[in-house]
Amino acid sequence: MSFLGINKPAGNRVSYANAAMVALISLLATWAVTGFSILANPFGTTYDHIDQAILNEFWFWTAFSSTVIPVVVSFPIAILLQRGRIKLQDALDELAAAHAELAHRSRVDALTGLLNRGAFLAEVEDRLETHGAILMIDVDHFKTINDTFGHGAGDDALRAISKALASKARPTDLVGRLGGEEFAVFLTGCMDETTAQERAEDIRQGIHAIRFEPEPGKLHAITASIGVAIALPRSPIEDVILRADKSLYRAKNSGRNRVILDSAA
Ligand code: GH3
Ligand code: MG
Ligand code: MG
Repeated sequence: MSFLGINKPAGNRVSYANAAMVALISLLATWAVTGFSILANPFGTTYDHIDQAILNEFWFWTAFSSTVIPVVVSFPIAILLQRGRIKLQDALDELAAAHAELAHRSRVDALTGLLNRGAFLAEVEDRLETHGAILMIDVDHFKTINDTFGHGAGDDALRAISKALASKARPTDLVGRLGGEEFAVFLTGCMDETTAQERAEDIRQGIHAIRFEPEPGKLHAITASIGVAIALPRSPIEDVILRADKSLYRAKNSGRNRVILDSAA
């Protein structure tokens, strides 16, 4: 609750100025009520028959209690209320940060930092209102890396491939890891077969250029096969991916480390 900015802590720190303002308002309100009851004298009380010394004592304690009590009570209560509010705000901030972190993790592949399969496909589907090209990328003989140098080296290779893909991507492209050693790139707005093929070829060369040294002095060449399909506006994502997959299959069967374009679009 915020009244004249009161009880609204600045940032996450208790505001003593706010607490003082609350105490001052309590004091003024108490004085107003006490003063009214004395000055207006609604019950027509006369004090003539009361001894002056008693009367003085009465007025002293009335003034004292209507000054001290509002301040002594309202100041600490205002601070306690602010502390409660700050705790609540801190908890809400932590919750919001945890929520954002979870939302991020649910979209991103933990090993490579690329979009995961679900997030990639959802983003592509959103963009299929316009033209685009899908590149399905499968690393060649990846199992050999794991078998020869161990799973850790395989992970290093996947990270290196992700970096190569990201460095070749343009800001409007999408890059995802669909699973295992399979990646995909969506070239947003690309409707031209030649351009798609050239971009895919550039990516293939980028992967081939990776200097992967799983053991000191032992370089291991990494290659990938790429299947490309152009998506017409509003074409079902499953169809486009199927066509790109078929091209990828052909790239694998015709010797690997190459780009094959599906020209059925
Ligand atoms: P091809 O040229 O026909 O694609 O052969 P390949 O060896 O690349 O394909 P295959 O499907 O036989 O093997 C893929 C391997 O990728 C098997 C699996 O253990 C490995 N793999 C999948 N995910 C990961 C991962 O996250 N880390 C590591 N190190 N290996 C992975
Ligand atoms: Mg595979
Ligand atoms: Mg493979």
